[in-house]
Amino acid sequence: MKAELVYVGIGSNIGDSITIATDAINRMRDIQDCTLVQQSSLYRSEPVSDIPQDDYINAVALIETTLEPMPMLRELQAIEQAFNRQRDPALHWAPRTLDLDIILFGQRVMNDPYLNVPHHEMANRLFVLTPMLEISGEQLIPGLGSLQYLINKAPSIQLNKIDVIPNNPTR
Ligand code: ATP
Ligand code: CA
Ligand code: CA
Repeated sequence: MKAELVYVGIGSNIGDSITIATDAINRMRDIQDCTLVQQSSLYRSEPVSDIPQDDYINAVALIETTLEPMPMLRELQAIEQAFNRQRDPALHWAPRTLDLDIILFGQRVMNDPYLNVPHHEMANRLFVLTPMLEISGEQLIPGLGSLQYLINKAPSIQLNKIDVIPNNPTR
């Protein structure tokens, strides 16, 4: 089976978000048939939502996997559940303990409502684009153009790299 590179966006703004984001990345190491290739720094970003809420901690992880997209999404949702992610379908972009989004799945373009890639909002989200550039450099995003082009035209937000030593045990 062919291995593909998957970019996962991480967000948290309830609880000890720095620890949650760091632990979530470490849990991704343990997903079957997945290898954690790279992880970005952690970033602090202002929320983009009509609901007043705390700042987010964001990061992006790069994973190599032979899993298909839906099984990969289910694995990520299981990690969200382990951090007690609550979903209220009536509330859009509500605060959350942990959000794991598939940003890119290789070069695939999928428009399934349960899984669309490239992620439908990635071009609008510097908190995704900037960590991606940090770990992987310039690249072409299927159907959207170059990563640097997307960064240049994305709406500006407050986004600051956090100076923490990640809890990143070698295993
Ligand atoms: P957004 O998708 O705008 O970032 P959100 O992350 O708050 O919003 P969720 O409530 O976490 O939205 O997810 C809603 C649904 O989105 C999930 O049930 C999932 O099936 C679907 N979904 C579609 N594409 C993706 C993707 N690329 N990554 C993760 N979930 C996705
Ligand atoms: Ca999201
Ligand atoms: Ca999500």
